[in-house]
Amino acid sequence: MTTPSVSFEVFPPKSVDASFKLWDTAQALAPLAPRFFSVTYGAGGTTRDLTHDAAHVLRRTSKLPVSAHLTCVGASIAETMEVAENFHKAGVTDIVALRGDPEGGAAKFTPHPEGFKNSVELIEALALLDKFTIRVGAYPDCHPDAVSQHANIQYLKRKFDAGADEAITQFFFEPESFLRFRDQCAAAGITQPIIPGILPITNWTSARKFAERCGTKIPAWMDEAYRAAERDDRTELLSTSLCTELCSALVDEGVSSLHFYTLNRPELTRNVCRALGVTPQSVLSNVA
Ligand code: FAD
Repeated sequence: MTTPSVSFEVFPPKSVDASFKLWDTAQALAPLAPRFFSVTYGAGGTTRDLTHDAAHVLRRTSKLPVSAHLTCVGASIAETMEVAENFHKAGVTDIVALRGDPEGGAAKFTPHPEGFKNSVELIEALALLDKFTIRVGAYPDCHPDAVSQHANIQYLKRKFDAGADEAITQFFFEPESFLRFRDQCAAAGITQPIIPGILPITNWTSARKFAERCGTKIPAWMDEAYRAAERDDRTELLSTSLCTELCSALVDEGVSSLHFYTLNRPELTRNVCRALGVTPQSVLSNVA
């Protein structure tokens, strides 16, 4: 099996305790020489400054590329572009450009009166700046707002046409979801890289709830598997083996990069990476 390259998503800390968790995560995962760390942007733009600060410190301490997430929610175009410029000043090299989810749990996204109306407009504006590698979201099990899988893929194509360099997918539970989507994207003429987003499951109940919200298909056998594992206190073992199997199946099908949603809990991600042959490089072993 070929060893894949990896990248890691973290979220910005909101407390001192959470800061320690983030730096532990960086310390544990940077030695695996990721392509980049990405730092999320709180729903509704709520972590604008925290994302900036976490991305800045991660970049400075790890010297690795850092991708800051940026959404269109709750801000004017001028404010959003100012955030992007400040990311650039902080050494951020890459942006994950997103529309974002509606504020306050609303069902439908409503743009800010002076804001970007959708992700395509944001991507176009960032591409004009010519300062960042631009990544975007992609949805193998279809985004809940898309009227069909065809529309979902056509929209992804529009994001690439607007200047995106690469897509990272929402998480999914079975390799077929991604492989089918990859084939459909290729058939639609998409040639840019689509990187599978991998969620190592630290808590099945929350992973399941999150999957329901974002339209990820939940295989019936997973409920049964986690019920049995919880009974026997073996959920970590189950998660490690399921996640390793999922990643191996993707690598066997020619996938060369994987993006892990770490939730600032590095253990599972690190164990899966090691099982895939991604081993620590001593030169990066002291980052934080
Ligand atoms: P888009 O791809 O722009 O839209 C989603 C779908 O809606 C499209 O597939 C399309 O079918 C339909 N659609 C949207 N607009 C139009 C239109 N104008 N015309 C026709 N169809 C349209 N959220 C956060 O708040 N913070 C984060 O840090 C964050 N990070 C993420 C990272 C990744 C890798 C992913 C996959 C998601 C992330 N999200 C984050 C969640 C994301 O904000 C939501 O999934 C949001 O609902 C969609 O954002 P998007 O830019 O991917 O949507």
